[in-house]
Amino acid sequence: MVADNAADSTKEKNENTDVLASTRTVVKNALEKLGYPDEVFELMKDPMRMMTVRIPVRMDDDSIKIFTGYRAQHNDAVGPTKGGVRFHPNVTEKEVKALSIWMSLKAGIVDLPYGGGKGGIICDPREMSFRELEGLSRGYVRAISQIVGPNKDIPAPDVFTNSQIMAWMMDEYSRIDEFNNPGFITGKPIVLGGSHGRESATAKGVTIAINEAAKKRGIDVKGARVVVQGFGNAGSFLSKFLYDAGAKVVAISDAYGALHDPDGLDIDYLLDRRDSFGTVTKLFQNTLSNKELLELDCDILVPAAVENQITEENANNIKADIVVEAANGPTTLAGTRILSERGKLLVPDVLASSGGVTVSYFEWVQNNQGYYWTAEEIDQKLHEIMIKSFNNIYDTAETRRVDMRLAAYMVGVRKMAEAARFRGWV
Ligand code: GLU
Repeated sequence: MVADNAADSTKEKNENTDVLASTRTVVKNALEKLGYPDEVFELMKDPMRMMTVRIPVRMDDDSIKIFTGYRAQHNDAVGPTKGGVRFHPNVTEKEVKALSIWMSLKAGIVDLPYGGGKGGIICDPREMSFRELEGLSRGYVRAISQIVGPNKDIPAPDVFTNSQIMAWMMDEYSRIDEFNNPGFITGKPIVLGGSHGRESATAKGVTIAINEAAKKRGIDVKGARVVVQGFGNAGSFLSKFLYDAGAKVVAISDAYGALHDPDGLDIDYLLDRRDSFGTVTKLFQNTLSNKELLELDCDILVPAAVENQITEENANNIKADIVVEAANGPTTLAGTRILSERGKLLVPDVLASSGGVTVSYFEWVQNNQGYYWTAEEIDQKLHEIMIKSFNNIYDTAETRRVDMRLAAYMVGVRKMAEAARFRGWV
């Protein structure tokens, strides 16, 4: 089951599943390939700022529960830091740090004027009431208010957080600031200054990456057999986009199990039965295991759930020709090496899932200008950026003879390293 694997991933049994250690390894390789001295790596191997907060929340039974949260700000040489906040029982300090580095890389890849940031709260929102979640969201903003802001660090949604949570956080921040401050956070509801296309932006970006990757491999997305692991924000919108484009989504999974039909699943029907946490529990129970799902016969595999899913244990059994990472960190370094040795086209997370932060940037720009764009404008701008970024990284991988992950890291760190040097930091 996906949920169990998520729990395993944070135990960090060895270096192979330690996302911070593996991120550092690739950042180091990328900087070395680009010819930067060691001190640039020393600067970038950790966030420049990491805040740990304790958030008291009055629960519905009148007890007080104290939650632990984090906000990591990786590097602001290029501009304010930016990145989501996740609510999940398996959040760890190390994971939040790694996620903040990945956000820096994403911003570099799609060329946004940001560095990376990330937040997380250890909690299980599936077991909390609406009112408790509101208290937690507001408490988190009060706790981190001194280090965030529209020109400092701009939060956004991530795993198990949504536009309602962004609305509470924006309201709390605006109360503290004593004026309406929509540019403090992105992923808001449209009526509060949210952007068209933000909710489905990560999935739209992944879809564009899939189309580009399919072209390189001579695969027609129409009729292609796709497996999607995870049915949260990215997985569900993505399944819908691919289904509408005529792909056969032959299997999907949620935290409780998976569904498989070699003739293609009816995605509209499943979306109709999905709850706000991306689970279709009753339908999925006692079906395919997570391991079987990843190893299914298909053309395109999209891990859109949690970290450390494709490892040295199963990478040799992956049948898909193209693997596109919609989740953050689903493939370990050993998994990456095996897939690339086997000639698979692996489109890394920092490229494939950068559509979310791209449309967050559009949202922030619109908030700053107080002038709002149409859904068509957003869609067209996102397409332009994703196609350009994909091809830039694909070409870098070819010319530098490296895998797509290392190529993406090389493109992702370059601007930040240059900015840090101009500022005289390293
Ligand atoms: N949480 C998303 C990500 O991991 C989006 C971050 C943002 O929009 O700032 O890329």
